[in-house]
Amino acid sequence: MKELLERLLSNGITCEYEENFDFAKHSTVGVGGKAKIAFYPKTLKETTRLCDFFVDNRMDFLVLGNISNTLPPDETLEIPIILTKKLKSMEFSSGVFVEAGVTSSALLDACQLNGKSGAEFLAGIPCTIGGAVYMNAGANGKYMSDIVKKVLIYKQKRLCLLNNHSCCYSYKKSVFMENDGVILGVELELKNSDEKSVCAVRKNVLQNRFALPKGKSMGCVFKNPLGDSAGRLIEAAGLKGLREGGAVVSRSHANFMLNEGGATQNDFLKLIRRVKNEVFKRFGVSLEEEIRVIIKGELNDINS
Ligand SMILES: Cc1cc2nc3c(=O)[nH]c(=O)nc-3n(C[C@H](O)[C@H](O)[C@H](O)COP(=O)(O)OP(=O)(O)OC[C@H]3O[C@@H](n4cnc5c(N)ncnc54)[C@H](O)[C@@H]3O)c2cc1C
Repeated sequence: MKELLERLLSNGITCEYEENFDFAKHSTVGVGGKAKIAFYPKTLKETTRLCDFFVDNRMDFLVLGNISNTLPPDETLEIPIILTKKLKSMEFSSGVFVEAGVTSSALLDACQLNGKSGAEFLAGIPCTIGGAVYMNAGANGKYMSDIVKKVLIYKQKRLCLLNNHSCCYSYKKSVFMENDGVILGVELELKNSDEKSVCAVRKNVLQNRFALPKGKSMGCVFKNPLGDSAGRLIEAAGLKGLREGGAVVSRSHANFMLNEGGATQNDFLKLIRRVKNEVFKRFGVSLEEEIRVIIKGELNDINS
C-alpha cells in the first residue's frame, strides 16, 4: 500500500483513506474480512482524479456506498475501494442535484427544509443515493426510477449525463449493473410541497416499516417473482429460522436473512443456496438474488 500511496502523492492526488478497511464493521450485515485500502473522496474532482489514476494504471477498483445491499468477502480484498460516503453536497435551486454519497435521511431532511416531495419512499432505507440509483431501490411500488431525472457518471476518464430513459430501469435493475460507471450524482425530479406535508408522509413511511426485522442484514435477499412474494414462498416452504453457521432466515420476515453472530459470507451463500433449492423443489420457482456479492474482488450478480 505504501507504494500505491506514494504514487498517488507523486501524481498530486491526495485523498482520505483507510488501510485494512473492516467490512464487518462497515457493512449493515456485519460480515467480511478486510479490504487492503478504502478511499473516501470528498469532492467530485477528487473522485474523478482517483478514478483517472486507476484507469491510467489499469487497476481494478470497486465503488461502494453504505454497503447495505452487498455481501462482503471473507478473504482480504486486494483491489482498492472507493467509498462515496463523503460526497455529501446537495443543491436545491431550480432543480435538485445530490451527490452520490448523500444518505436517504440527509436527502429527506433537505427535502423537508426545501418543501420538496417525492422521495419520502426512501425513508428507512439505509442507502446512499448512488447505491439507490444503482439498485433502483424502492418500496411499496415507488422506485428511484420514478424520481431520477439525470445521472452524472464517470466512465473511462469521461463524464457523462444519462437521462432517465438511458438508465434502462426495471424492477430492481438498472444499466449501471452492466457497465462499470461510477455514479457521481443525480438530478431528481421532485414536486413542490411544504415542510409539514413532507414530514408527515416521511413519518408514515417509517411507521409502516416498523415491523421489519431489526439486526444485521442486507434487507431483502431475493427479488419478488412476478405476481408473488419471495418472503411468502420462503415461509410457505417452512424455511423461517433455517440456519447456516451465524446466518439465519428471519423468523418474522422470511425474505430477510440475519447475521446472528459471527456469520461469514460462506454461511450466507450456503443459506441462499439451500433456500433457492427448497423453494424450487416445492414450487418450481427460481428465486433471484437482489443483493450484490463481492467474490474474488468482483461484484457479482450471482444470478448471471
Ligand atoms: C434494514 C434494511 C432495509 C432495506 N430496505 C430496503 C427497501 O425497502 N428497498 C430497497 O430497495 N432496498 C432496501 N434495502 C437494501 C439497500 O439499502 C438498497 O439496495 C440500497 O439502495 C443500497 O445502497 P448502498 O448505498 O448501501 O449501496 P451498496 O450496498 O454500497 O452498493 C450496492 C451496489 O451499488 C453499487 N454502487 C453503490 N454506489 C455506487 C456509485 N456511486 N457508483 C457506482 N456503483 C455504486 C455497488 O458497487 C453495489 O453493486 C434495505 C437494506 C437493509 C439493511
